[in-house]
Amino acid sequence: MFAIKSAECEQRLQVCLFCDLELPVKDLQDHSEVCGSRTELCRDCGRYVTLKLLNEHTSTCPGLRADQSLLRTPED
Ligand SMILES: [Zn+2]
Ligand SMILES: [Zn+2]
Repeated sequence: MFAIKSAECEQRLQVCLFCDLELPVKDLQDHSEVCGSRTELCRDCGRYVTLKLLNEHTSTCPGLRADQSLLRTPED
């Protein structure tokens, strides 16, 4: 029998949620901070949203509600 060392867990590859890159678990946290801070243009509302907020944004995106109301909500 082979004992699984805990160090192997850190070497295990996990897919980044934001760019689908495979990274060792120990590196993924740092990578996610940087990777998730990149911005992507939301095509529904035309705003730039950080990748880590994109999932959340899609549920609150004002662009998706544009068909319900043509009124624009003031930002400031
Ligand atoms: Zn990434
Ligand atoms: Zn949007």
